Amino acid sequence: MLPESIELIVVTPERQLLRQRTKEVQLPGADGYLGILPGHAPLITELGIGELSYHDMSGKESVHLAVLRGFAEVLPDRVTVLAETAEFAADIDIARAEAAKARAEKRLASGDTNIDWDRVTVALQRALIRIQVARKYRGVPVDSR
Ligand code: ATP
Repeated sequence: MLPESIELIVVTPERQLLRQRTKEVQLPGADGYLGILPGHAPLITELGIGELSYHDMSGKESVHLAVLRGFAEVLPDRVTVLAETAEFAADIDIARAEAAKARAEKRLASGDTNIDWDRVTVALQRALIRIQVARKYRGVPVDSR
């Protein structure tokens, strides 16, 4: 028999952010977004950088998080996300993310040959997805400044 719901668990190195029953989860896999309903075939995927969303049990409200790298294990009745970083859209400090974005852009534009490119580009990606998820949640057009 198919399970009726999924237990969604989101863990970061700092804490367990979320343990919640839901009917549907969308998460950014490394190769694109995955939509997961109860009874999904088991799989393990690398996480990309993007937005994780799930519906509450009424199916009316959806909750959004910015997630950044890690792994997800999908089972028919459970999804476990081990993310390097994850934040609820409502908790994201946009000004802080804008400052992080400006710092990363300045480093990239500096012409300094000693830059750790991987570190700077990942920092920039982190800032960009935080801004995108938080603005969408607050109803601010993503392109507007
Ligand atoms: P910053 O330079 O602003 O610290 P960062 O990308 O280096 O940004 P991280 O190392 O990814 O920050 O995160 C450190 C902690 O701060 C984590 O718990 C993360 O969830 C939180 N955090 C980082 N940026 C934000 C933000 N804009 N809003 C809310 N929480 C944030």
